[in-house]
Amino acid sequence: MTGPQLDQSVASIGDQPFTLAEEGTLLALYYDGARVPSPAGGFLMVLGVRPEDDGSGSILLECSSSSLRYEMSVPKATRSERKRVRDMIAEGDDPKCPRHQGQLLTRIRHDLACTKCGVRYAKAK
Ligand SMILES: [Zn+2]
Repeated sequence: MTGPQLDQSVASIGDQPFTLAEEGTLLALYYDGARVPSPAGGFLMVLGVRPEDDGSGSILLECSSSSLRYEMSVPKATRSERKRVRDMIAEGDDPKCPRHQGQLLTRIRHDLACTKCGVRYAKAK
């Protein structure tokens, strides 16, 4: 399996947060609800989650030891993830995030999205 091109950590310009190398590994920890280690030492704390226009999400993080800020982009929902969510709705269940255990999806405008990853998984009825 080939992952997306990973950005190397680059110097912060002004208020632009750093991008993270090893984003895929860190995302996996984040989905599991585990603490995400910071490249600068310590852990990354979530400052905010933002849904993007294309259906993906982005997470703003702050390092607990250096206070440097990082941004992690969360990939869009895959076909099978969208199907899982549609199936939950069809079965009358409350739709949950396919990546976060037990995390209910919330309505954001016309879509159902996860407040933890910012990803949109289905159209709201
Ligand atoms: Zn999620």
